Amino acid sequence: MFADIAERPIVDAASGVLTIDLTALAANYRLLQARLAPARTAGVVKADAYGLGAARVAPTLYAAGCRDFFVAHLGEALKLRPLLAPHARLYVLNGLQPGAEAACAAAGIVPVLNSLEQLDNWAGLARARGITLPALLQFDSGMCRLGLEPQEAEALAADPARLAGVEILHVMSHLACADEPDNAQNAAQLAAFERLAALFPQATPCFANSGGSFLGPAYAGSLARPGIALYGGAPIGGRPNPMAPVVRLDVPVIQTRTVPAGARIGYGGRFVAPTQMRLATVAAGYADGLPRHLTDHGAAFLGDTRLPFVGRVSMDSIILDISALPPDALKLGSLVEIVGPHQTLEDVAEASGTIAYEILTRLGARYHRVYR
Ligand SMILES: *Cc1c(COP(=O)(O)O)cnc(C)c1O
Repeated sequence: MFADIAERPIVDAASGVLTIDLTALAANYRLLQARLAPARTAGVVKADAYGLGAARVAPTLYAAGCRDFFVAHLGEALKLRPLLAPHARLYVLNGLQPGAEAACAAAGIVPVLNSLEQLDNWAGLARARGITLPALLQFDSGMCRLGLEPQEAEALAADPARLAGVEILHVMSHLACADEPDNAQNAAQLAAFERLAALFPQATPCFANSGGSFLGPAYAGSLARPGIALYGGAPIGGRPNPMAPVVRLDVPVIQTRTVPAGARIGYGGRFVAPTQMRLATVAAGYADGLPRHLTDHGAAFLGDTRLPFVGRVSMDSIILDISALPPDALKLGSLVEIVGPHQTLEDVAEASGTIAYEILTRLGARYHRVYR
């Protein structure tokens, strides 16, 4: 996979080539599906499928058997709706904003109801029209982010008339520490969720994200919601990553030079060349989603050779120390690897002081995108 990328000339004078392997994406979906069965496996495609392009990712997942898709906002769902078959289900994680009910219903999109107010608004529309509207009902099982509090869930269970007009397809909750299998909060959240879910026996559970999909069958529920693992991210921290890489990022060299000892490199002149050095400037920077925090920590690769970033990461460029390479190994237009076989998303995230999710979702709009 990706073997020929380094030989390809830079396309469209872009800041880099972002290669997205849709075959690996589909393989990751099938791996999760096999793991989670008999639960169904949804695809979380919020934030433009974690930056990879929901318009390409969602139909690929559909072709791999996925029928359930989660986004964060109604606007994301409305964009995706025409690209998916009518029987594919689209859910909005962040809930239903007041006034958005009619648009949500008209597009056949399923909201996650996170509060009693949202439930009342959705049920109100259903009753006013004499129809039944579907929803997911989220409980807060211990993350304090979204969903009904336990007392609210109990009050609702005691007053089922409040649900009239709404068909709860699944009860849902979200794990705060699923990437840490030894964290006791996982079992505590599962227990809290199971207790509340039992109050709504007509609805089956939707619980696991990527990490939760690897915590064991008790976490799978009847509909799992992995995101990052589909895109090749490690579902569990500090363990071998079972997912196939989906993303590769290569950036082109736009200039090379040799500088003497004492040369001040990059903004602020803060990196001083300790000896004579050979440098290459590449065409991507923090405006392309390569965090400025990679200054002093980041590197590119040419084959197996690590090329450290020197000087500050600029908006549109980064300077590499290429002294370790044979002369003429890099020329104008040569591509070097930022994410790929020598450097995983997790490696770049760690060097950036962040997580793979943030690196992915910030991938720049200036890259030339190649889908395979
Ligand atoms: C983003 C999100 C997911 C997907 O999480 P991953 O860790 O990427 O698998 C699932 N559920 C909810 C509520 C989310 O916000």
